[in-house]
Amino acid sequence: MERYDAVIIGGGIAGLTAALYLAKEGKKTAVLEKSSRFGGRAMTINKNGVLMNLGAHALYKGGEADKIFEELGVSIKGNKPSVAAQVIWKNDVYQVPMGWRSLFSKQFLTLSGKLRLVKLMVHLYKMDLNSVPHESLQTWAEREIADPMVRHFFFALCRTATYTHAANIQLARPVIRQVQRVLKEGVFYADYGWESIINELKSKAAQYGAKLHETAGVERIDCNGEVKRVWCPHDHSFEAHHVIMAVPPHEACRLIPNSEKTSLYRWKEEALSVTASCFDMGLKTLPNKNHQFAIGLDQPVFFTNQSRAAKLSNDGKCVVSLVKYHDLTRTHLDLQSEKQQLDAAMDLLHPGWKKEAAEQQYLPKITIVHNFPHTGRTENPGPAVPEIKGIYIAGDWAGHEELLADAAAASAKRAAMHILKGDKVSV
Ligand SMILES: Cc1cc2nc3c(=O)[nH]c(=O)nc-3n(C[C@H](O)[C@H](O)[C@H](O)COP(=O)(O)OP(=O)(O)OC[C@H]3O[C@@H](n4cnc5c(N)ncnc54)[C@H](O)[C@@H]3O)c2cc1C
Repeated sequence: MERYDAVIIGGGIAGLTAALYLAKEGKKTAVLEKSSRFGGRAMTINKNGVLMNLGAHALYKGGEADKIFEELGVSIKGNKPSVAAQVIWKNDVYQVPMGWRSLFSKQFLTLSGKLRLVKLMVHLYKMDLNSVPHESLQTWAEREIADPMVRHFFFALCRTATYTHAANIQLARPVIRQVQRVLKEGVFYADYGWESIINELKSKAAQYGAKLHETAGVERIDCNGEVKRVWCPHDHSFEAHHVIMAVPPHEACRLIPNSEKTSLYRWKEEALSVTASCFDMGLKTLPNKNHQFAIGLDQPVFFTNQSRAAKLSNDGKCVVSLVKYHDLTRTHLDLQSEKQQLDAAMDLLHPGWKKEAAEQQYLPKITIVHNFPHTGRTENPGPAVPEIKGIYIAGDWAGHEELLADAAAASAKRAAMHILKGDKVSV
């Protein structure tokens, strides 16, 4: 049996961020990761020298994760991609109007529509987020954006910025905040993939003395009003004053005896997972150099050439990603037709791409986030599970108004700060 101030279950972005905050402050900390490698959904797969994230991954500049990594001294190499963008509309590809000259090019919008779009972008850029009521994105957009084509574009932009295809239940304010960040500061693609972020977090946490255990899947947590011990296979156990569960909500519930009597259970029941089909490719060359980034207006797809900003191969191959967002309101998903739609989008954007494809990775249904701010959520989850002293949650489902990896990092910080400041302090 080993004794720690804090044991963290799960070695993704959330678990490692929490570990780094705690170890930095001198807390004796251990991270237990089930899999044989750290990273969770931020891992990067190396296919013959082509580095592929699990789907396209962008860090939102000025977002919580970006600020937290900076605060922790986690340096990430890479670049901001160019913002030139295309849209897919009625099986054709159009340039997004940027600047006055494009107002007169072939467009998916009428001249007055283009002017309305520019006006909307300026409005979003300058908008005071406190003025956004507690309502769904769809309600907000239907009231604020009269032109249906501009609204199509707005929804596609929101989908891409949040990876979520659920405007009818997404809360408007967090989504608009995310879009505002994209417009103001852009995004960042990491050299060598997101695993470079994981490696930095790991090595910094280890430098401060955190113990990182791989293939250490936690089986259960002993607690009786307060946390006592964490159990791994082969009767290996860890005693701890504080335990942060940085695992998905269903897994957190499984680990806690009688979890249905706790807030954790309610948070899990209210959580809505977002999934997508992701097709990542290493191409010898990009067939159409003008098509670096495209979003679908009448189909929920998104294409990006991540290599235009990040180093992702050693021999100049382009690493590109195509995503099909899953509609959360649809119960049936035909995975075969998802792939056909992705292939068709590739054919449209990059005719002849199959001849150029050196490496491919298809993830038919991957969980993007385990929850997001939506209209059915009655309270913000965590950081502490109030019924059990010493138990905390972190992860992308434990965000308050944050989204995606920002929610993972922000919830990890909240849990760590709660421990560091003492359980009485609310952060
Ligand atoms: C295709 C795709 C694209 C995305 N794009 C973006 C993007 O562009 N921008 C962005 O900000 N975010 C993006 N995300 C979201 C981002 O990757 C996640 O929010 C983030 O990686 C989640 O981190 P986490 O630590 O909360 O969870 P995870 O990464 O899932 O980590 C949880 C860890 O817990 C471990 N675990 C589970 N059970 C146990 C147990 N019993 N014992 C021990 N360990 C356990 C798992 O093995 C895993 O390593 C994307 C996600 C996907 C899938």
